[in-house]
Amino acid sequence: MLFEGERQLVQWLVWAWMAMAGLAFVALLVRTAPYGRFSRPGWGPTVPARIGWAVMESPGLWGMAILFALGEHRSPAAWAFVGLWGLHSVHRVILYPVRMRPGHRLAASVMLMGVGFHVVNAYLQGRWIFQFGPVRGAGWLADPRFLAGTAMFLGGFAVNVHADNMLRRLRRRSEDTYAIPRGGLFRWVSCPNYLGEIIEWIGWTVLTWSPAGLAFAVWTVANLLPRAISTHKWYRRTFPDYPPHRKALLPGLL
Ligand code: NDP
Repeated sequence: MLFEGERQLVQWLVWAWMAMAGLAFVALLVRTAPYGRFSRPGWGPTVPARIGWAVMESPGLWGMAILFALGEHRSPAAWAFVGLWGLHSVHRVILYPVRMRPGHRLAASVMLMGVGFHVVNAYLQGRWIFQFGPVRGAGWLADPRFLAGTAMFLGGFAVNVHADNMLRRLRRRSEDTYAIPRGGLFRWVSCPNYLGEIIEWIGWTVLTWSPAGLAFAVWTVANLLPRAISTHKWYRRTFPDYPPHRKALLPGLL
């Protein structure tokens, strides 16, 4: 009874959260989020991008750690969930910003919107998976959904990190300007890092078999599909010799 009100809140919020992703998707098709190559004035004061990224993404690390500690699910599967989530979060919150080039800026307003997003998202993942969702016992570790989802999650993570590393090396060579990325999955798409990220969170949905996971995957598509389309158009506008057969996000398709 203690958590009954909160259980209902989480069940309601997870579907509302997915509906909001639909609205964000439409908005982001119209206006690209103002960071990175699409930064523009009018979004208020800025902070160093490294600090901005670390702060923005940090609820995924501390929020999930707190919710795991508070939650009642302690099966081997719950440990596997928190381990996989932790792998992504330690990379995104600590390693990714540390390896960014100094000197770049991020609007504080964008950072704060990102914090808001990650607080709600971590809350939904953590409460559903470690408290209100079905208890996944040790047997879940041999379930085909867990195995297939984990393969997708780790494969997507590897694609994302590899593509981000290629972009970082490119930036080092091109002296702080943008250049055409070549090789790896860039042969086929402009944004393999986004493709990897989307595969990763679809994998999370499958391995946790949860509506909370699905909501995060839907949000990831809502954020990254419009941005991949904008980035692809930007490459085409900026570089006349941009490889003509390369797609935005999905090899051969889109
Ligand atoms: P980008 O691909 O726009 O940029 C990644 C890094 O590479 C940035 O430091 C960028 O510099 C640099 N870069 C990009 N293109 C080039 C180029 N052609 N030449 C030289 N340097 C380049 O990714 P985002 O910044 O949008 O996202 C960063 C990470 O965060 C990605 O892994 C993404 O998947 C993830 N993400 C996840 C979201 C989710 O909803 N789950 C939402 C948003 C991001 P600069 O910053 O100067 O442009």
